[in-house]
Amino acid sequence: MNLTGPARTAEDVRAQAAAAKDLESLRACVSRCEACGLSKTRNQTVFMDGQGTRALMFVGEAPGADEDAQGVPFVGRAGKLLTDIIEKGMGIARGEITIANVLKCRPPENREPTPTEKATCTPWLDRQIELVDPAVLVPLGRHAAMHVLGIEESMGAMRARIHERGGRKVVPTYHPAYLLRSPGEKKECWKDIQLAMGVLGMPIPPRSDTGSSPASR
Ligand code: SF4
Repeated sequence: MNLTGPARTAEDVRAQAAAAKDLESLRACVSRCEACGLSKTRNQTVFMDGQGTRALMFVGEAPGADEDAQGVPFVGRAGKLLTDIIEKGMGIARGEITIANVLKCRPPENREPTPTEKATCTPWLDRQIELVDPAVLVPLGRHAAMHVLGIEESMGAMRARIHERGGRKVVPTYHPAYLLRSPGEKKECWKDIQLAMGVLGMPIPPRSDTGSSPASR
């Protein structure tokens, strides 16, 4: 087991994640990680964005090309939509919310991560969630929701309600990339976001009381 150099096995990932005392230590471990083949094709790891001051954490699936280039999650077209949901819809700054992904490296050509890649990488996210310690998790998309909840269901079965994971509330919703392809679902996403805001006692901005997605206006 390797606690100091690059994590090269799933066991290294689990050990280093468990030993990380804070987010900066964890970020450093992730940036060196070579535990799966994605380390050979990434430009850089993508750890997280935001300060987490709102006790709310969005969890996406995996970095895309823009994220791989910039080292920041959700900065492409889908990221712009997520920013609109946060800033125009929720009425707060994007930096107030923590944003991360299940996978820390981009799968080539944006292919689906393999089960082995996911199983190897997820201890990083699980420790990240412990260290950020959000009251509410919002998984974006089916794969993120299935990992966070530890269940295999359709997105339709998981969203539109409040789940529990280890004392935290979990409110799954659609991935912004899906909303770009299916804009008719933005209203449903906005309902989920309002559920999460309600758990946190956040006021719904007046312009959003109609239930329409802010990102559709
Ligand atoms: S995807 Fe995860 S496990 Fe694989 S190299 Fe990147 S950080 Fe390590």
